[in-house]
Amino acid sequence: MKRLQYDLVVVGGGSGGYAAARTARELGASVAIVDHGPLGGLCILKGCMPSKTLLASSDRAQDIRESVELGIAASEPSIDLRAIFARKRAVIAGFAEYRIEGLKSFPLYQGPASFESSSAVRVGEDVVLEAQNFIIATGSAVAPAALPGLEEAGYVDSDEVLERDRLPKSIVVLGGGYVGCELGQFLARMGVKTTFLIRAGHLLSTEDKDVGDALTLYFREEGIDVRTGAQLSHVETRGREKVVHYIAEGRAQTVVAEEIFYALGRVPNFEGLALDRAGIECHAITGIEVGLDLRTCVPNIFAVGDVTGEYPLVHVAIYQGELAARNAVTGGSEVADYALQRAHTIFTDPQIAVAGRTEKELLAAGVPYLSGSYLFSEHGKAVAINRTKGFVKMMASPQDGRILGAAIVGPEASDLIHEVIVALYFGSTVHEFLKIPHLHPTLAEILTYPAEDIAMQMSARGMPAVAAAV
Ligand SMILES: Cc1cc2nc3c(=O)[nH]c(=O)nc-3n(C[C@H](O)[C@H](O)[C@H](O)COP(=O)(O)OP(=O)(O)OC[C@H]3O[C@@H](n4cnc5c(N)ncnc54)[C@H](O)[C@@H]3O)c2cc1C
Repeated sequence: MKRLQYDLVVVGGGSGGYAAARTARELGASVAIVDHGPLGGLCILKGCMPSKTLLASSDRAQDIRESVELGIAASEPSIDLRAIFARKRAVIAGFAEYRIEGLKSFPLYQGPASFESSSAVRVGEDVVLEAQNFIIATGSAVAPAALPGLEEAGYVDSDEVLERDRLPKSIVVLGGGYVGCELGQFLARMGVKTTFLIRAGHLLSTEDKDVGDALTLYFREEGIDVRTGAQLSHVETRGREKVVHYIAEGRAQTVVAEEIFYALGRVPNFEGLALDRAGIECHAITGIEVGLDLRTCVPNIFAVGDVTGEYPLVHVAIYQGELAARNAVTGGSEVADYALQRAHTIFTDPQIAVAGRTEKELLAAGVPYLSGSYLFSEHGKAVAINRTKGFVKMMASPQDGRILGAAIVGPEASDLIHEVIVALYFGSTVHEFLKIPHLHPTLAEILTYPAEDIAMQMSARGMPAVAAAV
């Protein structure tokens, strides 16, 4: 048995763990990483990057279908699934290779980690790593299937949707979160008859109603069957088909398909870590509990990324990893602030992007606000390029016009939202936002309309334009 010592041991070399290790090393600490593999992390191997690579193909197919509206007649695109998935594999292999090179610049122990105590982690059978501090970054796993009959009938999860280059003729998507929506739309655009069964009244139930309603409408317009208010009951097989039973509008109903895509979320992953031996508290759904300084209840052990059950987003995992590493190395108590970090985007078509506070949150918190919105169908550049689905909305304080949040449903929303994030960072008011030049004709210009609308509402109430304090 080898026993080795480091200042910091990072368990998990995905987005959060890798960011933590790099930050700690830059601060002069000796750092080791433990990862049982496959090396690369969720984002690169089975998350953001493979999904966006596949979506590039399905979005392009849709552009071709819609090009007739621009005077370019094209026949139904011929889909070469093997080529699409081969491209995805090649792209991902490149990203993974680069990340693995980075991981190997650290002492890297490849094997399952389990805590022996709060100061030692065992890797496999032969190695024990002792350290002053540990950062746990072991990510998440697909939530266990909790629907009677589902295991027996069989199903695919996001990992499999991203891998399979043979698609079923029809699929039922269980769950209307962002993974289900992105990959469900991919499947539909690849020619799979797609039905969503969701309990809520619209897709993306955690977003504002107008945002979720818009996506639900666009999915339906595209021929995707979205069944809302569905209380799942059980699954059975009938020959080669799978039948999902559910209750909606007070009566028992079914949907029959060749395959089921189980997209009801992910849960924090701490399997095999023997956290109890280190005295760390955790919960199967909410993950490892951490304070804002990312310490667990054991002060020399930190947790970051999906395993904390906080915002399961790559930029948040990186932010947390860097912050935890600084606190671990310096002994500091820097605290995380998620007000801006919780901004997020969904790569459906049209895309969705949200920054700051949602209307739902403002209403729940009783925070007064003014709002303005504008349709892409009324925006010159969007009309010119024929990308007219969706809208932007902005919320601001009625007292001083300070921007509180924004949502975009529409073309390039994932990029457009960054202007709002910058505005929020600097505490900008709508009046200041309007002083920033917006080039013409651009999609970005559209954000000036809700800002202008709010400024006019303020002036109608006799409120003067106020400069930001920052
Ligand atoms: C289909 C899909 C699409 C997504 N798209 C986006 C997106 O567009 N944008 C976005 O921001 N986020 C997206 N996400 C979420 C994002 O991928 C995750 O939030 C992020 O990758 C989490 O990083 P992490 O460092 O917490 O964990 P991970 O990257 O999962 O890293 C965990 C690491 O720990 C290792 N490990 C686990 N257990 C052990 C153990 N016991 N011993 C040793 N090693 C262990 C694993 O091998 C792994 O390398 C997507 C997720 C999915 C599933």
